[in-house]
Amino acid sequence: MSEHVHIAIVGAGFSGVGAAIRLRQAGINDFVVFERGEEVGGVWRDNRYPGCACDVESPLYSYSFAPNPAWSRMFSPQAEILDYVRRCAGEFGVLPHVRFGHTIREAAWDPVTKRWQLSSSRGPFTADVLVAGMGALSEPWVPGFRGIERYAGQAFHSARWDEDAQLDGRRVAVVGTGASAIQIVPRIQARVGHLSLFQRTAPWVVPRKDRAFGPLERRLFSSVPLTQRLMRAGLYVRHESLLLGFRNPWIMRVVQRQALRYLHHQIKDPQLRERLRPNFTFGCKRVLLSDDYYPALAQDNVSLVSAGIRELVPEGIVDTEGQLHELDAIIWATGFHVANPPFAKYVRGRSGESLAEVWRGSPTAHLGSMVAGFPNLFLLTGPNTGLGHTSMLLMIEAQLELLLGVLGEIDGNDTATVEPDPGVQARYVQQIERGGQGTVWTAGGCASWYLDETGRNSTLWPWSTHAYMRRAKFDRGDYLLDA
Ligand code: NAP
Repeated sequence: MSEHVHIAIVGAGFSGVGAAIRLRQAGINDFVVFERGEEVGGVWRDNRYPGCACDVESPLYSYSFAPNPAWSRMFSPQAEILDYVRRCAGEFGVLPHVRFGHTIREAAWDPVTKRWQLSSSRGPFTADVLVAGMGALSEPWVPGFRGIERYAGQAFHSARWDEDAQLDGRRVAVVGTGASAIQIVPRIQARVGHLSLFQRTAPWVVPRKDRAFGPLERRLFSSVPLTQRLMRAGLYVRHESLLLGFRNPWIMRVVQRQALRYLHHQIKDPQLRERLRPNFTFGCKRVLLSDDYYPALAQDNVSLVSAGIRELVPEGIVDTEGQLHELDAIIWATGFHVANPPFAKYVRGRSGESLAEVWRGSPTAHLGSMVAGFPNLFLLTGPNTGLGHTSMLLMIEAQLELLLGVLGEIDGNDTATVEPDPGVQARYVQQIERGGQGTVWTAGGCASWYLDETGRNSTLWPWSTHAYMRRAKFDRGDYLLDA
C-alpha cells in the first residue's frame, strides 16, 4: 500500500523549504517534503569546502519574508547560510513535514488515478502534485578522465569535501577554476606542500568588497527593520542594473578593462599574468569575486597548469604535454550536472517518456516551471530560471507565487490536473530563445554550463527578475485543465 499525500515536495534546500513555508502561509498543510539527507539546507548543507561562502550579498540572498538582522558579513559564509535555512525551516513550522532519509528514485504519472506514483528509498507514495526542488547544482560532476579509477591517492569533489582528507604539507591538485575552486585555493594554499591548479579556461575575477556588519549596524537592522529592507532594495537595484552589461556585451568590454587592471595589480609575473588573462567577454561565464585568489596563485608553492589533463595514473595526473604531476590528493572543482540533471531520467509523464527523453539534453518548461505532458509537476529552479546577475532567491520566490496560483486552481476549482498547453509552452520557449540572443551569455565567446549540449541557453532567464515576477502569474488560458 502506498501512502498518499496531496503535495509532495522533493528536496529541502532553499527552494523546497521556501515552498513549504509559502504553502503553510497560504493555509495548505497537506504536504510532505522528501529529503534524501538528514538535514535541510541543500547545496548549503552539502558544500562544506574551506572558504565556501555566497557571492551574492546576504541581505539579498535571503527570503524576502524572513530578513536576518544577524548576518555577520555582507557575503556570509556557508555555515551561517545553512544556519539561516535551518532556522527558517524551524520557525515557519516546516520541519514536521520533512521526511529525512527519503530518496525519491522514480516518479511516474498514472493517468488512471491521476496521481504521481513515487518510489522512495523508504517505500512507495502517491501524490496529486509533485514539486521538484532538487536544485540545479546538487549533482556533482567529475569528467570521465582516462585512468581515473587507477589513481591511488585521495580524491573528492568540492561539494563532497572529505573532512578527514590529509592535505597539510601534501601535494594537492585542484581541477577547475570556477566559483568553487577560487574559494578553495586561497584557503588551502598555505597549508599544502604544493598546489597544482589545473586551469582549462582563465576566469574573470574582480574584487569582492566584503565587509563585516558591526554590532551597531546589526542592532539597527533588528530594531529598525526598514534599514535592512532599504539595503536589500539598494542591492536589488544595483544587481539589476548589471543586466545592462550582460545584455549588451560591448559594455562588458569596457568593464573588463578594469578587471584586467586588477589582474595587473595583483600578479606581477608577466608570464603568469598572461596565462591568467581570460579569452572571452566578461560575464559570459559567471564572474568570480575574490580578493585573495590571484595573490594565492603568485605564491612559490603553487603551479598553474594550463595544459589539459591527458590521463590519471596511480601516482597522479599526466597532462597533455606528457608531464606527470605526482599527487597525494585531487580536489575536483569541476561543477555539476546542470542541463542533464539525473532526476530527469526518473520523472515519467503521461506518455511514459521521461523528462530526459522529452528534453533530449535541452530542457524546456513553460515559465521554467511546468512541462506539457507532465501534469501537476512543478519544477523549482527549472529551465531558464537561473541567473547570472543576482540572487536566485528572487526567482525562487516568484516561482512560489506561480505554484500557489496552480494550487489555487487545483484546490479551489476542483481541477484534477494542470499542465501547460504545448503551443503556449513552445511560444514561450521561442521568446526565451530570442531574449537570449546577443546577450553576453550566448555571444560572449565562451563555453559555459549555462549552455546545454545543443549550444542552447537552457539555464538562464535572460531578462530582469522583475520581468519574471510580472510574467510568472498563473493564467488559466495557458493551461490544459482536467476535472
Ligand atoms: P563550474 O563553474 O562549473 O566550474 C567547473 C570548473 O571545472 C571550470 O573551471 C571548468 O573549466 C573545469 N572543468 C570542467 N571539466 C574539465 C575538464 N575536463 N578538464 C579541466 N577542467 C575542467 O563549477 P563550480 O565552480 O562548482 O561552480 C558552479 C556554480 O555553483 C557557480 O557558477 C555558481 O553558480 C555556484 N557556486 C556559487 C558559489 C557562491 O559563491 N555562491 C560558490 C561556488 C559555486 P572550463 O571553465 O574550461 O569549463
